[in-house]
Amino acid sequence: MTQSTASRVGRFRQGRMSGTRPESLATWRVTTDDAHVADRVARLLGGQPQPNESGGNHSDEVLTERESVRILMEGPDAVTARMLLHDGRGVVHECDGSQFLAPPQVKGQPCGCPPLLQDRKAVARSGRGPMPSIDLVFRIAADPSLGEFHFQTSSWNAAEQIPHLLEELERVEGPAVCDLTLELVIFTTKTGTSVCYRKPVVTVLGGPGTVPSEAPRPTASMPAPAVPSVPRTPARRPDPSPPPAPEPPHPFDLDPRLVNRAAQALGTSGHRETIIAALSQAAETRQLTAELDRLRDHVKRIAAITGQALQAGGSSS
Ligand SMILES: [Zn+2]
Repeated sequence: MTQSTASRVGRFRQGRMSGTRPESLATWRVTTDDAHVADRVARLLGGQPQPNESGGNHSDEVLTERESVRILMEGPDAVTARMLLHDGRGVVHECDGSQFLAPPQVKGQPCGCPPLLQDRKAVARSGRGPMPSIDLVFRIAADPSLGEFHFQTSSWNAAEQIPHLLEELERVEGPAVCDLTLELVIFTTKTGTSVCYRKPVVTVLGGPGTVPSEAPRPTASMPAPAVPSVPRTPARRPDPSPPPAPEPPHPFDLDPRLVNRAAQALGTSGHRETIIAALSQAAETRQLTAELDRLRDHVKRIAAITGQALQAGGSSS
């Protein structure tokens, strides 16, 4: 499950940095150093090639018009999934969740990570355990000759999908046609706050002979998955409202160090997930305050009515 990075012509991203402000995107953003690749991506997936001003090592970017892109993955070898823990100097724990993958002298030995994902998250949250590090390599199905692209994520949601994804890729035997989708997740917190965000999902569709290389063009809305995915704010009841249209990028003014510290406290991976979890908690607090205010008004009104009733009773007797 390792690949060379030399042959990759571009990278798919689900967000971008604008100065110190991370932005979550509703459609895929592709970065590359090759102007021809940028041009071709724009023709295939919509958008305009432009200079990449979000930082990183690619010169060009295309903010595509697609939330889902049909791709080709070359079997399970197209997936690299590891668990990594960094300290200030570098990687101090690299495993597959049960065994060390590196350094060579401990490779294959039990690493001591808890067997359950939930417990691994808790250890990672405390800063003592590794986080997922996932890399997917693929070609755009509509033009495989363009070259290999990749997508990296440290999302626990994505980590949960990996065993199933590997099984599905194994089953296809050879290149698999898949949809790489920024899936809209909407759920309601226990205090009734609606939260929505996008998570990357790979859906294996079949072999190249059995599936068209072009997905139908996306429509304005897509069905909302009912499964809650942020573990700290589980859904208690489904959101009755229909899913909103794809949301525009939301800019935030944030110090990346603060976000990293918040991620440790909240047990989240990635800036986007951290911000959503933090906002959800802030919204819950605000909602609680509003409920207390309403309760206080009720008590005042009851007190006033009782006072009037007592006065009326006193004057009539
Ligand atoms: Zn481990």
